[in-house]
Amino acid sequence: MKVIIVGGVAGGASTAARLRRMDEHAEIIMFERGPYVSFANCGLPYHIGGSIPEREKLIVTTPQTLRETLNIDARPNHEVISIDRAAKTVTVHDLKTDQTFTESYDKLVLAPGASPVVPPLPGLDLPGVFVLHNIPEMDAILAWIKEHNPRRAVVVGGGFIGLEVAENLVERGMQVSVVEMLPQVMAPFDFEMAQMIHQHLKLHHVDLHLGDGLKGVRVDADHLSVDLGSGAALPAGLVILAIGVRPENALAKAAALELGPKGHIVTNPHMQTSDPDIYAVGDAVQTTHFQTNEATSLALAGPASRQGRAAANHMAGKKSRFSGVVGTAAVKVFDLTAASTGLNSRQLEAAKLPYYSVTVHTNNHVSYYPGAAPVCLKLLYGPEGQIYGAQAIGSSGVEKRIDVLATAIRGHLTVYDLEELELSYAPPYGAPRDPVNNAGFAAANQLRGEMPLKYWSEVKNLNPEEWFLLDVRTPEELALGEIPGAVNIPLQVLRQHLGELPRGKKILVNCQSGQRSYFATRLLQQHGFEAYNLSGGFKTYAAAIENFCQSDECEKKAMSAVVSPQASESKSSQPNQGGKEYQLDACGLQCPGPVLQLYNQVKQMQEGDVVTVKATDFGFASDVGAWARSTGNTLLSLETKEGQIVARVQKGLEQAANPTSSAGSSQAREKKDLTMIVFSGDLDKALAAFIIANGFASMGQKATLFFTFWGLNILRKDVAPQVDKNVIEKMFGMMMPQGANKLSLSQMSMMGMGTRMIKEIMKEKNVASLPELIATAQKNGVRLLACQMSMDLMGIHKEELLDGVEVAGVATMAESATESNTHFFI
Ligand code: FAD
Repeated sequence: MKVIIVGGVAGGASTAARLRRMDEHAEIIMFERGPYVSFANCGLPYHIGGSIPEREKLIVTTPQTLRETLNIDARPNHEVISIDRAAKTVTVHDLKTDQTFTESYDKLVLAPGASPVVPPLPGLDLPGVFVLHNIPEMDAILAWIKEHNPRRAVVVGGGFIGLEVAENLVERGMQVSVVEMLPQVMAPFDFEMAQMIHQHLKLHHVDLHLGDGLKGVRVDADHLSVDLGSGAALPAGLVILAIGVRPENALAKAAALELGPKGHIVTNPHMQTSDPDIYAVGDAVQTTHFQTNEATSLALAGPASRQGRAAANHMAGKKSRFSGVVGTAAVKVFDLTAASTGLNSRQLEAAKLPYYSVTVHTNNHVSYYPGAAPVCLKLLYGPEGQIYGAQAIGSSGVEKRIDVLATAIRGHLTVYDLEELELSYAPPYGAPRDPVNNAGFAAANQLRGEMPLKYWSEVKNLNPEEWFLLDVRTPEELALGEIPGAVNIPLQVLRQHLGELPRGKKILVNCQSGQRSYFATRLLQQHGFEAYNLSGGFKTYAAAIENFCQSDECEKKAMSAVVSPQASESKSSQPNQGGKEYQLDACGLQCPGPVLQLYNQVKQMQEGDVVTVKATDFGFASDVGAWARSTGNTLLSLETKEGQIVARVQKGLEQAANPTSSAGSSQAREKKDLTMIVFSGDLDKALAAFIIANGFASMGQKATLFFTFWGLNILRKDVAPQVDKNVIEKMFGMMMPQGANKLSLSQMSMMGMGTRMIKEIMKEKNVASLPELIATAQKNGVRLLACQMSMDLMGIHKEELLDGVEVAGVATMAESATESNTHFFI
């Protein structure tokens, strides 16, 4: 049997090697277009960042080794340019000699992979714009970095390749922006899980542009400018496109093999194409989803390799089938691992499968053994307990849990089986109740009706007439933030306060992680209340509602929470003049543990003393900033070191000076900022508000506008997106003006005539229109806050508001007002 293989990397090389093991006599020729066979594409980003320092380590094997050990004739620099199915030959172009020749086959294997998507947009062929898919492309990126030493890079695409590239460019000392058209990175994850990745990217100073598309790249003076759909222009010395891949199907198409709707080569479980003598494997093929049986594709190395094995077995006459994919994947994002398997919420909704989910936050191993760190694990399952999917994020032990759950999916286990799983345990590795068991317990409890659940996304739509929100954390934890309207009764004293709870209402209970609220839910249920637990607790809720997107103000806010790199470097390295220094090791504690320890430590310190806290719960990175702000203390620096969060906190506000000013100065920052509450939805008042705000912004001062009641109408988009509303909300929406263009004057409106006249006069006198003033304000960093409570009352949803508007509670406005010395109410 003579077998020709097209493509010599993951799929092609696996096919060749397995075939040789099954058939010593087959003649195997493997053509590879590029200069290397069997190289490690998965390692390319890590050589750029330096964690794989030796380039040659990426070249897993050579044609010579393949010849010597497996008698495989591997020919790099050979491109197969056509297939003659009738004659069973391929035409090959030798790229080195420029010769063309034909080669016959008994069986042909197509393993041509997928190529990076490069959309037809202007400037993507400019020097400095790259894709990363093979060794020559990696070499070109490294050569560019060496020659031009770029300080800023833009990575387009927030999938796993984009994030790996972004991390590795940061490792090289670049300031990196990631642009992603979807509202989240890592599409396999549900939104609130991806939010934890956003939070972590921000911690590492990656500038995130979510929900924004690439418009083009151009040269601007001595650098590139990456233009986005939103109008933002990001300066860059290096641009990497990681937008996705499309199957290399030119050969298959020309040979009239059947292709799927997205251009993948259709295969059967033996990996045969529509021509039984032609097999296809890897990124180029369409396969089936193990769970839904739907046609799908998955551009990952594991499936490519196993498909190669299945194809080789079948060619060698063995009974072998490729049983489809569930989509198990992992990605390193700086100190975190994010891994997922099976179906996510969007896929389940698309497949119209009823499902539930639980989110548990538990440590990777027992907390008393050093290095304990939380794993956030979300499990999705059906009404019969069938496991649909799982997603996990944490700094250690994440992929282990996802692999167990991937195996559970393959074995058709249920959440009830997860309760029973016997998993390895010793203090350095796990706990007697592994996170997988815990997820199983929580899911099974929910299905058995022992723990009814509500989810973060449902909170804002709960009718206060029907629902009572109960927060069972300790009062100290409230400094981390609260769900608007929730009443705090700590779990420890709940039994004594049962009489204060409304009998006629349903009770939604939250704590920080979902565990104490579970206890409270059980307690309340047994006292006759209809109680629900908030899945994932305040931790999941807070991560989900945080705005990590790109607007200037949003970015500043995130940066102020994490402290700019310069500030963190300069301040953390400086001795604390005057005050005492304390150390606090909160490693192994889950939030709110580190914050509570910090609270107790700071209580014992004097004004000006500084404590350095170390924690392994990465949630602490966002909590510590919020805690310091709301308790009047100062976060001096925040950084990650060897997988730990290290925060320096000074008691009191003495050092809340401008981060760029000297740390020794005890001069408090002079308050010059503006906070304005915009209550009115009248055109003239809105114009005044924005003119004043822009004035402050132009003086370099911070301006925050808090829009409440009718003021919210100013922020509504002209064309509202489709959102689910009840009848009253719909009616309310129709009765109110839809955005800045629809407002009318507070006086002399004269059935709209006055409004039209003033707009004409403004045009004539070159005064910017209200939408223009709003855009300028946003560009200048004016912070626009929409009052959560008013939105709930008026049935306005976040999606209906202009991009970049933050939804906030009164506490956020109050925090900003405390920072300001000018306050207006319009
Ligand atoms: P490839 O490995 O791409 O090989 C196809 C080869 O065919 C190419 O070398 C191409 O030159 C050659 N070829 C194409 N047409 C012809 C022709 N006409 N004639 C001759 N040769 C031809 N997957 C994971 O599971 N985990 C990871 O962490 C991971 N990280 C990645 C990081 C990067 C930067 C990249 C680019 C990919 C990563 N992947 C990862 C994906 C994984 O590498 C692919 O899924 C896998 O390599 C697919 O194997 P394949 O054989 O189908 O295609």
